[in-house]
Amino acid sequence: MDLGIKGKRALVCASSKGLGLGCATALAEAGVDLVMNARGADALESAAADLRERFGVDIVTIAADIATPEGQRAVIEAAGDVDILVNNAGGPPPGIWSDWDREDFIKALDANMLAPIALMSALMPKMAARGWGRVVNITSQSVKAPIPQLGLSNAARAGLTGYVAGTSRQVAADGVVINNLLPGIHETARSAALDRNTADNSNITPDQARAQREATIPTGTYGTAEDFGAMCAFLCSQHARFIVGQNILLDGGATNLSL
Ligand code: NAD
Repeated sequence: MDLGIKGKRALVCASSKGLGLGCATALAEAGVDLVMNARGADALESAAADLRERFGVDIVTIAADIATPEGQRAVIEAAGDVDILVNNAGGPPPGIWSDWDREDFIKALDANMLAPIALMSALMPKMAARGWGRVVNITSQSVKAPIPQLGLSNAARAGLTGYVAGTSRQVAADGVVINNLLPGIHETARSAALDRNTADNSNITPDQARAQREATIPTGTYGTAEDFGAMCAFLCSQHARFIVGQNILLDGGATNLSL
């Protein structure tokens, strides 16, 4: 299928690895020029070089922490007048409710709620002025079914989801389409870290922790960054015009919602 976005320009945050890289890859494959961001310059440069070579698209890199105001300013300046914005950042650490104080919540909100809101606020006005834009926020399956040990993530994602529910309906008439993509368990550094955490807490190996988690997913497998990127690119495509303000689960059927 032709996604109809060849020649458009996208900012993909936190995209040197994992799900962000999956999104950047699928957009590059569709002929979209990229602004790629991540904290560490080395992995970012090597991911960008790989995509330039494979897909021949223009890529600007900007190494910065997207959770900070300085990082956001640098990324927004590099992004200029992008047509597409994919918001992403690393997720907060797991724990239990009594572990977390105000500072922990502020960090989680900065990374997973306030950063994407700042980027939407800065970049959507130009999309609206041109009458076309696409925004995808990477959130989590925990939006539909909160995960007890991810209380910081549950809280920040819920805030972003509420913001998008209203804002997506306010910008739709300007041709700007915002949706959230909710990953279930995908094979990335993040899922490996969560497996190690489970293994440490349960006195089992990380492989056993993974096998236990895979058994909870109807597909019997983790998702991949490629699966995730393909859906992201579709939501950024011309065909997504009528999909507005949705929270789309990619979780192999793990979250069993009747409606
Ligand atoms: P990952 O740890 O594999 O990749 C993180 C990427 O983000 C790296 O490129 C890293 O450099 C970059 N990054 C992290 N924090 C950043 C920051 N503050 N500023 C700039 N770049 C930053 O993570 P992932 O598995 O791809 O997950 C992406 C998001 O999806 C996270 O918020 C995660 O919590 C969420 N999520 C992931 C899964 C999963 O199974 N992988 C499931 C549910 C939710």
